[in-house]
Amino acid sequence: MAAGDGLLVRVRPQLGRLTREQMLGLCDAALAWGNGQIDMTNRANLQIRGVTEHGLEPLVAKLVALGLVDPDPAREARRAILVAPEWTVSDDTHRIAAELERRLSELPDLPGKVGFAIDAGPAPALHADPADFRIERGAEGGLILRADGRESGVALPPGSEVDALIALTKWFVATGGCDAGRMARHRAPLPGWANGSERPAPPPAGLTAGRHDLGAAQGLPFGRIDAETFRASDARAIRTTPWRIVLLEGVAHASNTNVHLPTDACVGAPACPQASVETRNLATRLAPLIAGRLHVSGCAKGCARAAPADVMLTGRGGRYDLAFDARADATPMLSGLSASQVLTYFGTV
Ligand code: SF4
Repeated sequence: MAAGDGLLVRVRPQLGRLTREQMLGLCDAALAWGNGQIDMTNRANLQIRGVTEHGLEPLVAKLVALGLVDPDPAREARRAILVAPEWTVSDDTHRIAAELERRLSELPDLPGKVGFAIDAGPAPALHADPADFRIERGAEGGLILRADGRESGVALPPGSEVDALIALTKWFVATGGCDAGRMARHRAPLPGWANGSERPAPPPAGLTAGRHDLGAAQGLPFGRIDAETFRASDARAIRTTPWRIVLLEGVAHASNTNVHLPTDACVGAPACPQASVETRNLATRLAPLIAGRLHVSGCAKGCARAAPADVMLTGRGGRYDLAFDARADATPMLSGLSASQVLTYFGTV
């Protein structure tokens, strides 16, 4: 897609994992055809920015050769699958995500932002992350199917999970869900077979940067990876997450363990054409001054954070709106602030 800093190319790694060869190839591609940075999104996808029209074709050919982009655009468009990143081979998350990958062609055409969460570990790690159709651990210990926006789901017999997901997407389309755009906004009554009363299990403690059973969990400021630095990593594979942490398989030590993860900002101006304000420098300066979760959004779309933040700054007309415990599109408490007025408000100049 077009952005303010050139074309943006998105990669959706299968099972949220890149082999070492794929990781090195992606770094080479970002250096050759992008701006040398790789961005990890809140759907655990990877993005290369700053691509020219001229560079698009060889870049996509490289990504297809690496197995990072499906050669069939229709299949690629359906691969909006968020996978709980701490899966192990043959566990429920791995089994179900791999089956859904194999059966993508059975899905109907869905709106562009609609996606799946395969979250079948011991507790639902992706409970706060964006997805429309979820397979997750239920409070009774089995797996449940839950439509986003509904507090409870229906228990599933083992082995039926992908059948149920596909059936629910077909129901979504047949009942006008494409007009609503997202499952949470689609208020049609669920079919009886998908309308259960089992709640998800309590969420686990969040992943933190540092040592990890798989190797190391490395924090990424604003979810950004410098390709030159990253290709020097000796990780044998990497796993993406929606939380600005990347899992480095086989690595003994994590760097960047002190990244202030509660602080985040979308790319802002000038890289995004919708943004009227700079975001990341301001977020970095504010981070030590704010105890809770801070988000700086270049506009009310809030695409880097759909959920509320303790402190939300939103760009509008070249100034910042300030709100508390709010989403980017909330009614602000203060409007029209300059960056220096925001810094003054939080106690510095
Ligand atoms: S929130 Fe707005 S400014 Fe930020 S990346 Fe999304 S569209 Fe651009």
